[in-house]
Amino acid sequence: MPKQKVVYTFSLKHEPVEHVKPGEEVLLEVEDAFGGQVKDEKTAIEKLDWSRVNGATGPVFIEGAEPGDTLVVHVVDVKVADKGVIAVIPKQGALKEKSFKAKVKLVPISGGYAHFGKAKVKVNPVIGTIGVAPDKGEYPTGTLGRHGGNMDVKELTRGATLYLPVFAEGALFAAGDLHAVQSDGESCVSAIEVAGEVKLTFDVLKGKSISWPILESGESYAVLVCGDSLDEACVLAVDEAVRGLMREHGWSFEEAYMFTSLAVDLKINQVVDPKKGVRAVIPKSYISIESFCHT
Ligand code: CA
Repeated sequence: MPKQKVVYTFSLKHEPVEHVKPGEEVLLEVEDAFGGQVKDEKTAIEKLDWSRVNGATGPVFIEGAEPGDTLVVHVVDVKVADKGVIAVIPKQGALKEKSFKAKVKLVPISGGYAHFGKAKVKVNPVIGTIGVAPDKGEYPTGTLGRHGGNMDVKELTRGATLYLPVFAEGALFAAGDLHAVQSDGESCVSAIEVAGEVKLTFDVLKGKSISWPILESGESYAVLVCGDSLDEACVLAVDEAVRGLMREHGWSFEEAYMFTSLAVDLKINQVVDPKKGVRAVIPKSYISIESFCHT
């Protein structure tokens, strides 16, 4: 699907641009989060057309997905271009209270590394924004919620599987905002923003709902939550982990709550988007995807 098929909100109102069946492979072309507007390091980042940033390619209608189901997104591959861009913008990021200038840096990508001056960082391509239409209203692609959105999770890369709640007929899926590499926190407000291609397949868990997106990556599941503060996000993440562990093991609340201190890691996704993102990571040996679901 060409990158010109882009939305700037997740909403029921968008007509799907492609219909796919479960198991069918889909290739999305993706523009970088700045909408390809940064051509060189002299670009005035504050003067970009902000109505054209953080687009997501789509929406894709997944046949058979209905409200109350869970959409399963398998990330088959993520390819990124040979040049990315990172920027700092006054009044944004973890250090937004400090005084600093806007700055843009182009970052060459070659041989599996991003070259930031003399420092090289191994490429780990991340899908920053990925989600479905929410149950009501319209969410800008720059924000995040139970429908997914601008979650910026560094483990959302090739080989991962993302589970998303379905609120609309066909789910109306879209994705964009690739990062050649991103750390937990994404502290400066951007990562290495880059154009590229995403290859995906979809499945549907019929009649099974989840409350928040769940990321299956390596040997663990992670509940991806967001809140107005990191404190709020941590509360929501632990709460959802406890619910899942209670379903899996038949434990009381108290037992499941105890177990979070043994085997559930809280990690920061990002501290710079409109809502802060946290993930509660649970090894697969202690929980199955079904235990995050309710009917
Ligand atoms: Ca992002």
